[in-house]
Amino acid sequence: MRYLVLSDIHANLYALQAVLEHAQGRYDHTWYLGDVVGYGPHPNECIEILAGLHCLGVAGNHDWAVLGKLELDYFNVHASRVLVWTRAVLNPLHMRFLESLSERMVAEEDFTLVHGSPRYPIWEYVLNSVDATIALKHFSTRYCLLGHTHEPVIFQAPDTANVLCYEIPLCADSSARSLPGVSLIINPGSVGQPRDGDPRASYIILDCERRILEHFRVDYPIERTQEAMLALDFPKPLVYRLSLGR
Ligand code: ZN
Repeated sequence: MRYLVLSDIHANLYALQAVLEHAQGRYDHTWYLGDVVGYGPHPNECIEILAGLHCLGVAGNHDWAVLGKLELDYFNVHASRVLVWTRAVLNPLHMRFLESLSERMVAEEDFTLVHGSPRYPIWEYVLNSVDATIALKHFSTRYCLLGHTHEPVIFQAPDTANVLCYEIPLCADSSARSLPGVSLIINPGSVGQPRDGDPRASYIILDCERRILEHFRVDYPIERTQEAMLALDFPKPLVYRLSLGR
């Protein structure tokens, strides 16, 4: 089975459409790692597409904030302004989609899915080797898939020569790699708001039988998303960061 793994779509319809078009025919099912809403101008459209994919998925901090499960005080002023707007425009069916998401799940026996970290799935960031080494103690499957940082990366469990996880950046296009038989934490990067300096949408495809991971970056019409944000009077820093991938 081949899985399309999507994280941090953040209501960016044009990025999501570009990813789905690019991945077409190369996956069987979809895994979703949280934050379909927040920051972006098309929350209803993006949830409708995700729901139509019948994906398995987990909740992110922005998903929870829209549901009122997290206080908006936890977010910066720009993010919380868009979350308030998102709450107001989201239709009830799409609210129910967000409510249906669990905090963590195990799929295909070997994969734990969370948004932030396996220790605190909604909020904690796994940003570096130290965080990843701590996170290793909090899942029992071989692999853990997570998002939240918006940076594509793999952390590989330490061996006897090292006490910390190895950080393996995912920066090349279409780089297929075999998954080694040790524990990994895998972050596919963000579809809708990349923050690794590359503004293109980021995603991975996992082939569970062959144990192969492929990472992709896809161009999308960033200016169309930005125009929609400006038309809604969204905070300018959120608009411009999409061009920078920061
Ligand atoms: Zn996010």
